[in-house]
Amino acid sequence: RDSCVSDSSDSIISSGSDSEGQAHKVVLLGEHGVGKSSLARIFGGVEECHDCDEAGNTYDRSVIVDDEEASIILYDIWEQDNSQWLREQCMRMGDAYIIVYSVTDKASFEKASELRIQLRRARQSENIPIILVGNKSDLVRSREVTVEEGRACAVVFDCKFIETSASLHHNVRDLFEGIVRQIRLRKDSKED
Ligand code: GDP
Ligand code: MG
Repeated sequence: RDSCVSDSSDSIISSGSDSEGQAHKVVLLGEHGVGKSSLARIFGGVEECHDCDEAGNTYDRSVIVDDEEASIILYDIWEQDNSQWLREQCMRMGDAYIIVYSVTDKASFEKASELRIQLRRARQSENIPIILVGNKSDLVRSREVTVEEGRACAVVFDCKFIETSASLHHNVRDLFEGIVRQIRLRKDSKED
């Protein structure tokens, strides 16, 4: 499945499962071209990937966050085909979601809100961790969505927010650490 193998970055140590034996499924959502695959490849530790199918990939990695190992399966399959079935699967399968828009593309920002609403509809009573991501923060001159707009949207939609630049690797590690922390928080509150 994951034929892309390369050196790990420092917070990402190995492929495999964690001590609890339970991998967390994280699903990337967002408009075409916003940078989902770029972010996923950084998470997966692959820059250029010739074996990677542009249409869809899955990255299975263990990461250490706050001295604790977590096993993450990252799904970059939202655009794999245009079937309604796959999209519905995506909405159902995730333990957590990363909704990406591009700060240079207002329409992708509006689409992100739409996806958030769809997700809420699909998973009504569940309190699933979601991070809203404004990617391409390096493209200062073509910015169409301000940080404040992004943050305000996240408040309305009750999710976390971060701006990233996949090109500069800026905040990408924080994003994936953030999703692990969110998953842990929700899990802990469920056990109470
Ligand atoms: P996807 O369709 O959401 O998977 O988007 P891709 O990861 O394929 O990226 C679409 C295009 O945007 C590619 O040409 C990327 O190189 C470019 N891109 C992705 N992230 C960034 C970023 O943070 N900054 C800049 N300047 N370009 C980016
Ligand atoms: Mg892609």
